[in-house]
Amino acid sequence: MTGMKSNVKIGEGKISGYISIFLGTLTFLGVLCFKNPEVFTTPQFREVYTGESMKILLTSVIIASFIFGLLSFILSKQKKWALIGLILCTLTVLVGGFKVQPSSVGAVQWHLGLDWLLLDLFLMAVIFIPIEMVFPKRKDQSTFHEEWRTDLMYFVFSHLFIQFFGAITQQPAKLFFGWMGLGGLHAWVQSLPFVIELFLAFLVADLFQYWTHRFFHNHSFLWRFHSIHHSTENMDWLAGSRTHFVDIFITRSMAFIPLYVLGFSTLTFSVYVVFMAIHAVLIHANTRIKFGFLRYIFATPQYHHWHHCKDPQYYGKNFATIFPFIDKLFGTYYLPKDVWPEDTGLLEANYPKGFIKQAIYPFTKSPFDSNLNMEEYSKR
Ligand SMILES: [Zn+2]
Ligand SMILES: [Zn+2]
Repeated sequence: MTGMKSNVKIGEGKISGYISIFLGTLTFLGVLCFKNPEVFTTPQFREVYTGESMKILLTSVIIASFIFGLLSFILSKQKKWALIGLILCTLTVLVGGFKVQPSSVGAVQWHLGLDWLLLDLFLMAVIFIPIEMVFPKRKDQSTFHEEWRTDLMYFVFSHLFIQFFGAITQQPAKLFFGWMGLGGLHAWVQSLPFVIELFLAFLVADLFQYWTHRFFHNHSFLWRFHSIHHSTENMDWLAGSRTHFVDIFITRSMAFIPLYVLGFSTLTFSVYVVFMAIHAVLIHANTRIKFGFLRYIFATPQYHHWHHCKDPQYYGKNFATIFPFIDKLFGTYYLPKDVWPEDTGLLEANYPKGFIKQAIYPFTKSPFDSNLNMEEYSKR
């Protein structure tokens, strides 16, 4: 789907065609979750949603996919998008999309987070694609820019293997601090008023995240991995997903240590995870929304786009993910009133493209190997 840069206009049936294909694909995979819940769904999420509510959602999305397919068929001179969408939801119905039944699930050792992937992708797309269309930062940047498939691969990968990532990122904390008798501390933390407990969780996690992030920038070997995250030229709702698995492992493990040691309640931990899932998408989004005074309290797109600035002059700013005051505290804060970075990305022109190549790249090569000088990197 390359070469369709910003030529999407309202009323020509292309957008409805894409929506139909997108929703059709989600529902087709959604049926898999109902047919093999032990393999494709996450036990923790099954406690949050009910099979019945998911059944209603599935039915509604199948119908929506049909309607958008028909709309595209009527509006568009090019019928192929409509046809693909209509074929997809017909297939979904044929494999039993309207007849799925929630079933009880036996315990298995390993599962994929397909339910998490589909629900989060659906929700994030529904929230952020319209925001990026109505309030874009870069108007000329299409949702289907040349690297959107690469970023989608990262999104799919980190969601499908949620159980694996969840399990391994908890290991360092358990290994180093599991032997301590922390019961008293946990009881005290959980006895705090909920808002205080929540703020404390966000604060300690962001402090650990801040220093891990800075470490990734200042050490040449670690920078190899984190530079993948900075390689995106098109900041948007999917761009934040582009994170090397070594980066995910180390950063999340470090942020988990204080959460584990202080022993926050399950509710606090869940709120933190949900907040991070949405907030990480927001700060990378291609939107010019500035959030008024809130931008001094929470990291916003403008704030994090400066962290991704291509100009070396602005390297090494805004490491915090949630609270800008942490950057202020440690002298790395940068947020001019109305100015945004001209370009985001890395200066290397030959950075590898594609999920697999980027996964291997840091093990074999360093960005230092390129003709850029070390001095510029050490400022990062
Ligand atoms: Zn960074
Ligand atoms: Zn980022």
